[in-house]
Amino acid sequence: MKYRFLELKIHQRHLDKYKDQYPLLFKEAIMGNHIFEDSTIQEGTLLKLTDERGHFIATAYYGIQNKGIGWVLSRIEKEKIDELFFKKKLYNAIEKRIKLYNNPKTNAFRVFNGEGDGIGGLTIDFFNGSYLINWYSQGIYSFKDSIVKGLKEIVEYDAIYEKMRFDNEMIEENHGFIAGKEVDFPILLKENGEQFAVYFNDGSMVGIFLDQREVRRTIRNNYSKGKNILNLFSYTGAFSVFAAKGGARNTTSVDLANRSLERTQENFKLNNLNLDDNVIIVEDVFNYFNYCAKKELKFDMVILDPPSFAKSKDFVFSAEKDYPVLLAETIKITTNNGIIVASNNSSTIDLEKFQQMIGKAFNLGKARFEILEIHQLPKDFRTNHAYPESNYLKVAFIKVIKKSKTLST
Ligand code: SAH
Repeated sequence: MKYRFLELKIHQRHLDKYKDQYPLLFKEAIMGNHIFEDSTIQEGTLLKLTDERGHFIATAYYGIQNKGIGWVLSRIEKEKIDELFFKKKLYNAIEKRIKLYNNPKTNAFRVFNGEGDGIGGLTIDFFNGSYLINWYSQGIYSFKDSIVKGLKEIVEYDAIYEKMRFDNEMIEENHGFIAGKEVDFPILLKENGEQFAVYFNDGSMVGIFLDQREVRRTIRNNYSKGKNILNLFSYTGAFSVFAAKGGARNTTSVDLANRSLERTQENFKLNNLNLDDNVIIVEDVFNYFNYCAKKELKFDMVILDPPSFAKSKDFVFSAEKDYPVLLAETIKITTNNGIIVASNNSSTIDLEKFQQMIGKAFNLGKARFEILEIHQLPKDFRTNHAYPESNYLKVAFIKVIKKSKTLST
């Protein structure tokens, strides 16, 4: 039997959450959840959630992600989940980004941010005329036709592409090309006046993390002039480009992936930066720490933006567990009064916990510190207040104080 609409009861103890805007559906909240062991329930099935007496609470869709088993779509009983529903959500989201569309210095940003814009499991980014849709479950993917149709009706576009960010056997044809004119990659984009290359045809990471836009600008405008800057886990060198553009004396970018070398070179070239003052090193960050210790290298500023989880030949890194140690190592290679830009993007670590980790790291690294500023997600990465995990990004600009002040006479 195929279900398309399923009525499910929420446990009393989880009711308040769902009455109060909580968007994520998790298995434990549902009474009789063994029903999901029945593989005939297809992802994309709409779930009518009620209290124990059968009073309507919300409509959700069934879609399996690591976070849960679906997302709430509506809290209005009569609201139909149809083409118009999706179009309205898209329209509202796009309207909120009008200022970014009109910003002459930036043409890449997030247009639709999952649960922050009312549909978990779906993000849409804009890159200089082209749209990239990310589907995070088979469930949300089942609404593809309506969502793409809605998007096409609202915006003008050069191209629309998609990425399936869930396990599936489907083959993305033409690198996920859906509509418009196929792109000859890279797409060149502008962010606060600087240029970057993005590729939709090379894995899930396209070349730039749009959520760090304001951090990059801050680094360029307020922290780089005359400094000797190290960028760890540098990927395509986006932080290094902004540092160099801000007048850094030199930059060093360290990333393990071979691919990062040519991508970083490409971005330096696009911005007319020379490769003598902007060094790129393909190397494990943990080995690079050892190298710095041996050579007694120190930097005026270190940018530390690791992935939440990484495995290399020699090390396994999990931000949850290892961040303090990583930061402590970074402190060692930062000059007295130098700056560390410490970034963390684990959704399970909130700002308070992150600040505790910073304290722990400075204990380990035997230095004092002052937090100069903290950045979180930019406005286009809308968050859902009832779901704090959606506010995952924390970036602290930290001044490293290694020597106690000498008393002046
Ligand atoms: N800071 C980057 C994004 C980092 S993405 C930016 O702002 O654009 C994570 C990067 O960490 C990837 O490029 C990956 O190759 C790299 N990486 C993972 N483990 C590593 C390790 N042990 N040493 C160096 N780089 C590593």
